[in-house]
Amino acid sequence: MSHLDEVWAAITLLYIHPMQSNLDTDYCNQNFHPGNLAFCDEILGKVSRSFAAVIRQLPPVLFVDIMIFYLVLRALDTIEDDMKAFESNDVKLKHLFSFHETALADPSWSMDGVGEGDERRLLQEFPKCHSVYAALRNESKAIIAEITKRMAAGMAEFVGKDLGQGTEDILQYNRYCHFVAGLVGEGLSKLFSVSGLEDSSMAKELHLSNQMGLFLQKTNIIRDYLEDFVEGRAFWPQSVWKKYSKDGDLGFFAKAENRVEALQCLNELITDALELVPDCLMYLEKLKCLEVYQFCAIPQVMAIATLDKCYHNGDVFTGVVKIRKGLSCKLINATSDPKKVHTIFWDFAKSIKRKARKAKKLGFNDSSFTRTIKACDEICEATLEYTYIVKYITGTIYFLAAGLVGSWYYEMKTFLVGFVVLFGFMMYMTTMSDMAEGHELKEAILIVKEKQKRRNPVPKSKDN
Ligand code: MG
Repeated sequence: MSHLDEVWAAITLLYIHPMQSNLDTDYCNQNFHPGNLAFCDEILGKVSRSFAAVIRQLPPVLFVDIMIFYLVLRALDTIEDDMKAFESNDVKLKHLFSFHETALADPSWSMDGVGEGDERRLLQEFPKCHSVYAALRNESKAIIAEITKRMAAGMAEFVGKDLGQGTEDILQYNRYCHFVAGLVGEGLSKLFSVSGLEDSSMAKELHLSNQMGLFLQKTNIIRDYLEDFVEGRAFWPQSVWKKYSKDGDLGFFAKAENRVEALQCLNELITDALELVPDCLMYLEKLKCLEVYQFCAIPQVMAIATLDKCYHNGDVFTGVVKIRKGLSCKLINATSDPKKVHTIFWDFAKSIKRKARKAKKLGFNDSSFTRTIKACDEICEATLEYTYIVKYITGTIYFLAAGLVGSWYYEMKTFLVGFVVLFGFMMYMTTMSDMAEGHELKEAILIVKEKQKRRNPVPKSKDN
């Protein structure tokens, strides 16, 4: 019952406002080989279930560029991830370093026997991707080739490294995340710019683009502790986890008797990721096209939901922590309105704060407690303005609705009036006091007014 809104969200996403695909549009049909384009679309759906729908809803002038960018990097990643196909690391390195000159320059290039399933097929049938890539605008091709080259060089840096015990320190952890995700953010910003859907200044937002990627990558690394550790390719930074592991081994946290230390370590890494959020929000605020906004915001809201779920949660050390399907639908739907995206970040930041305080109250000793609260407060402050508007409206609706129902019953059952109006008033007060938490209401209103003065216009949908 408590997740009724999520059921509604799932129905909305499936039947009422499903995401549209822009594959079959004049722009796509005129500029690309239909059969090869169809292959790219099909394989995209296979190798990336979560990203395919968000990529397809982008306006046609951007959709194919991003799809190819994704597939090219996926092909590169398949080479990086394969631990068996190459006779030596040197052979793998050779393929990584030359990828932008082979796969992206030779129309007949393909690779066999690397990766598994659909990824293997992507490499085998790469000429089809190349045909679509070759028909992209020159600026897009240059961006894709440049990022591919830099990512391959970055991956190569880590090929020979033994990651059984994670990365060395925060610096190396950030560096890895930059190569595999920050660079994607940079490439995307540049592709947004050359499509004309976003300002040309987006191409220069290198720092914010990088932070966007880092936030997503760190969230995955935190969540995938067990899986990565078992596979012998872990990324948790030693400079952090060695403070908590008594035997100096990363596997220490997987043992049930070490749950306290495991949670302390987990909470510190989550805090480190949360500190990226204000920059991510700032990046989102710079976008003008609603479809681009959704494309960027969906993975971000999923990430904050995942971090909230992982925070102080021992399940991270025993299996895979996943957010509910219904919650995902609710989050996806909310990204069509930037105000709601702010409310989502605000709610999750507040939820994490609540968990941190509760754990402390129960005697849990957490050295990153103050830092966590500060990171959450910064998220709340960055999202306060829109959250304030949304919550204020919701609170008022509760109040008025309860009043209405109350007067309607008045004719029949007098005693219900008081009860229903009181209920509405309580809902209203709860919402408002919820809002003011951490801020004096007056102070909150001041922050909101200040922000409204500096605000950019809200992103608008691009008519296809
Ligand atoms: Mg990889």
